[in-house]
Formats: sequence, structure tokens, C-alpha cells
Amino acid sequence: MLGSLLYRVKNKFARRGVVLMYHRIAKPLSDPWDLAVNPKHFEEHLKVLKAYNVISVDELADILTRKSKMPAKTVAVTFDDGYHDNYLAAKSLLEKYDIPASFFIPTDAIGKQTEFWWDALERICLQSPHLPDKLILGQQDEIWNIGKADNGNTLNPLDLYLKLCDMVRKMPSTQHQAFIESLEVWANNANKRPEYFTMDQKELLDLQSSPLFTIGAHTMTHPYLPYFSYEYQKNEIQGGINFLKELTGNSINYLAYPHGGHNQDTLAILPDSGIELAFTTHAQHFTTDTNKYAIPRFQIKNWDAATFAFHLNNWIKS
Ligand SMILES: [Zn+2]
Repeated sequence: MLGSLLYRVKNKFARRGVVLMYHRIAKPLSDPWDLAVNPKHFEEHLKVLKAYNVISVDELADILTRKSKMPAKTVAVTFDDGYHDNYLAAKSLLEKYDIPASFFIPTDAIGKQTEFWWDALERICLQSPHLPDKLILGQQDEIWNIGKADNGNTLNPLDLYLKLCDMVRKMPSTQHQAFIESLEVWANNANKRPEYFTMDQKELLDLQSSPLFTIGAHTMTHPYLPYFSYEYQKNEIQGGINFLKELTGNSINYLAYPHGGHNQDTLAILPDSGIELAFTTHAQHFTTDTNKYAIPRFQIKNWDAATFAFHLNNWIKS
């Protein structure tokens, strides 16, 4: 009884660190998942971060696996998905402010002239000049009515987008392309947007040549891992690690779970994969007691300096 009370008291006052999760540094027309921070706001965030102790993931590994002491106001910066704007907009600003960062890269997308499925769906549902008023799925067994008004019988474009995201997330990656292409034909909108493409091999190598930056794994095709079997997960995780190892010539020690998702199978795969730390999307601070395979991260939105500083201060204060 007293032991558990002491533990709770100790935990309440344990020093807190936070890991920040960025995706794009850009100004998209629409952003249903709040994934983009514009370059002006991103620079404001970096100025705020100069008052913090920003560490690399290697230093975070020392804290969480080798029990190094955690300094006050510890923050780590991460980017998911390897968007091209990370190279064009974020890299030079991170260098300007001398802020270390890690980039988690889904390897199937590297150098491809294509959008991720969630971005392609956003273009189709939210950026098409005219959507047809019916979408027939499968063997004519499901018909969705599409309309501007949300009157119960029709789906508005945003709800359509969210329903389609739900469907694609459950599909094996081999089915993605055909499904997206059929929707592009349906919406008469197949104009892929280069600003949504990812970094190519040369850019990734340039990024990792800086001591400020670390490349981490994010599987091959970015599946929501808990929807899939142990074998499927293992192939995705190990395939992504092997590709990056070969490309960079370095060991790959860190992983971010796509969409934050992991289950017991995922956790069983990690010990033999060489992965030291794995990151979720659970919005929480960490302490020295945090599970090294479930490190929480805060998604950073397109906030101005004051809003960013307000959140950061709240998350970290013990
Ligand atoms: Zn991701």
C-alpha cells in the first residue's frame, strides 16, 4: 500500500520529456488530419525550442535504455512519412537553429512520383471540381450517395473522405493502387500533386550525412499494423529496416509505427529487428520509466509561436 503510494508520488514528480511529431512543412489547400505546419510557423516553433534542451533520438535511447540522466526541459523532434518538403523547407531551418531531428521513412514511397493513399483520397474527395452524386463500390452491392448537404441520405465530401480512409486502411497494400485509380476515374481527377511526393534516395542520403539528422524506419507501405497478421507485420517492419540499412550503410535503430498502431505481434517482432526505440502517436509526455517500444508523441499542428509555447510548457511541466 505504502509502496504503491510512494510509486505514485514519485511518478507524479518524475521529470517529463516530450517527443514532437511533425509530418509536412507546407501550406496545403486542405488538411483534414492537421498534418501540415507552414514554414513561417515552423520557424517560430524552432525559435521557441531554443529555450529547451532538444536531444537526438540517440540521446533519447541513452535516457530510456541506458538510464542516462534526463535533463530538464527535454524535447525530441520527429518527422513521419518522408515528405519532400521535409528536405526543401524543414532541413535548412533545422540547420539554421541547430535542432536535431529524426525522419521516419516508409520505404515503398521513396522516389515514386505518387501520393500516399490518404493524400490521393483527399485530392479526389476534397479537391475535385465536380464529384458524381453516386459512388458504387464492389459488385454494385454498395451505393453511396454524395452531396453537399449532410441530410442523412447523402455523404458530404469530408465524410466520404473519412469513410474511404477507413476502407483503405484495412486493405493490404497490393490493393491500394487499383482502388485509388478507380476512384480517380470516378471523380475524373488523376492529377497527382508533386508537392505531395516524398524524398528520393539522394535527398535521404544528403539528410543523413548531417550529424543533426537520423533516419528511422516506418515500414514499407505504411500499414495500420494491428489489422494484419504477424507474418505481414514482420515483412513490413523488417523490409523497411533492410531497405534503409542498405541505402544508408547504417544500422537502423528506431521505428515509428504507421498511424501509431501496434499490438502484441508487433512487440514480439521488435527484439530481433535491431530496433531500440519505437514511437506511437499517443499524445503523452515520457519519463525515464516509459516503455522503449511505446514512446508517446504529441502531434504538432499549424500553431503560431504563442500557441506552440503554451502547449509545450503544459506538456513538459512536472
Ligand atoms: Zn506515417
